[in-house]
Amino acid sequence: MANKALKSYKIGLVDADLLNGGTRHPNLVLLKIAGYLKDNKVEFDLIIDPNADIDGYDYIYMSKVFTFTPDPPLYINAGSNRKKFRLGGTGTYAATKDIKEFVEKRKADMSSLENDRFLNRLRNFRSEEKTHGIDMAAQMPYYRLYDTYIDKKVAEGRKSSYYDDYRYYSIGFLTRGCFRHCPFCVNKLEGQVKPYSKLESFLDDEVDEKGKLVRPYIYLWDDNFLAAPRNVWEPLLQDLINSKRPFQFRQGLDERILAESPDGERIAEMLSNCRYKGDFIFAFDNWRDRDKIVKALKIWKHYNPKKPTKFYLFCGFMLKPGDDARLYKDVWELFQRIKILMQYGCFGYVMRHEDYHNHELSNIYVQLARWCNQPQFYRYMSFWEYCYRNQSFWEQRTLKRVDVPNIKSYEEFLVDYENGYYNDIKICKTLQTLLNFLDRFDDHREELLEMFNYKLKDLKDPSLWKR
Ligand code: SF4
Repeated sequence: MANKALKSYKIGLVDADLLNGGTRHPNLVLLKIAGYLKDNKVEFDLIIDPNADIDGYDYIYMSKVFTFTPDPPLYINAGSNRKKFRLGGTGTYAATKDIKEFVEKRKADMSSLENDRFLNRLRNFRSEEKTHGIDMAAQMPYYRLYDTYIDKKVAEGRKSSYYDDYRYYSIGFLTRGCFRHCPFCVNKLEGQVKPYSKLESFLDDEVDEKGKLVRPYIYLWDDNFLAAPRNVWEPLLQDLINSKRPFQFRQGLDERILAESPDGERIAEMLSNCRYKGDFIFAFDNWRDRDKIVKALKIWKHYNPKKPTKFYLFCGFMLKPGDDARLYKDVWELFQRIKILMQYGCFGYVMRHEDYHNHELSNIYVQLARWCNQPQFYRYMSFWEYCYRNQSFWEQRTLKRVDVPNIKSYEEFLVDYENGYYNDIKICKTLQTLLNFLDRFDDHREELLEMFNYKLKDLKDPSLWKR
């Protein structure tokens, strides 16, 4: 194959997460490889059949983001074609427990494409630093890579809006890295935030027949943009503002920086003047950060009193079977964080680590996420009300009971329960999950009921951020 003309090669691209049912985001690494191949006029396909015949491909670049994504059949059954594969992505190493092994795998993954022998034979048309080989930071993605797949899925009946992230956004990292060392994160061993791509290297300028931008929005995958030094984040943020395109940091922004940094007020003020797409998303992952988060919220809300603001709420990490004490503490801390967010008029978004499955009462996390992550529930109902409303909805719709109130207090429910009302009526899974939790932690029943009744409308208090 050594003498084969480069332009006669055929390359397969495999998004393993896509073949496992799909995600809402395109795989950025594959978009960039596709961009690089296109620059070099090398033929490539996004392989969308998990059982595709791969004989016709010279090399196959397969990427997966999620550790739970299985290898697709075309890889498992590849036989002698295995050697064509180049594997990468966080999904291939993020679950590695041994730290030394994790470091080695991550290092190899982060540089594998830039050391790839085939890619290094192709010209680089984008980089200021190299003439050959892909430069992942400087490479323009090929944003149409998924078009055939999307058309197929939409023809099969999936809503086209499901693919908005694939179709209407320029995507990239302006910075990479973090200094927080969160143990559950792929960045846990990183030490700082450094500049990565320039905005213009991934900003798409394709226009339609009317001259309108095909991809009018931007989303960023930066790990911790605000933790970059001011001489890095400020000009980059200004570039985003100058682009006049609505943008969004998809991994959330680190609210604690507003409290920790002397630039906190400046950050909040600049962000208040941005065309931000959707909700501002921060993270409130640890209860121990509460003082910093409260200090930061006072700054944030002063400059952004009306901006919809949401916080990722990480939970379920290191939960083990039968560890009731840890489960209770985790749920308690989740509700305390929600209480603070409600006081400041902010929304939560429950992010479960997969360890949450380990406990037999894990369904409490499922119900909490269903309540908290849907603004129409979180905004108007407490957790108790949400769970009870599932029950009353079922009674009204399925049992056709017209006299069932939409909402009952726990005390009213208890009276009915003790009077035998539910002897012949099944209790829905959502409500039963809450009741099981109360039973398991009977000693904490009063405290739990207080938390289950936290409600945005009751707790929101603008005087908290008044100056
Ligand atoms: S702050 Fe975010 S990016 Fe940084 S280590 Fe923690 S989870 Fe990862």
